[in-house]
Amino acid sequence: MTEKFKCPRCGFEQPPTNDCRECRIYIPKYLEIQNKRLGTPTDNRNWLKKMWDLITKSKCPECNKSGGQEIKRNLISTSDHIGTTMRRESHYDKNNRFTGSTYRPISVTIQTKTYNVFYRCDYCGYEWSKNKKLTSPII
Ligand SMILES: [Zn+2]
Ligand SMILES: [Zn+2]
Repeated sequence: MTEKFKCPRCGFEQPPTNDCRECRIYIPKYLEIQNKRLGTPTDNRNWLKKMWDLITKSKCPECNKSGGQEIKRNLISTSDHIGTTMRRESHYDKNNRFTGSTYRPISVTIQTKTYNVFYRCDYCGYEWSKNKKLTSPII
């Protein structure tokens, strides 16, 4: 007699297994995700938020934390100039096998948009604005 084993996800009873016969999940992975979701200490979550803020938010000039959330942006000006960008070219031999790639400069129109971007700090509520230039090639 095998011991009763229930799938942690759908509750289907079956002999102990890694792959649930009923809902087809991979049970160890499922448990790992559950543990992470339930057992993540608050410290860790704060740490994650901090990392995320560092990547996506601007530094607040008031409190020096990376809590500057973009709340509004106004387009100030648009200008074009001719510039170069590198285009990647892939090469194949006569049997269609990839043999490598090279980069070649090509001439493109580069558009620069200048925005006045408004930020508000998540931490202290301070608001400020600064100009931000975004360039993108028009191909
Ligand atoms: Zn299941
Ligand atoms: Zn702040």
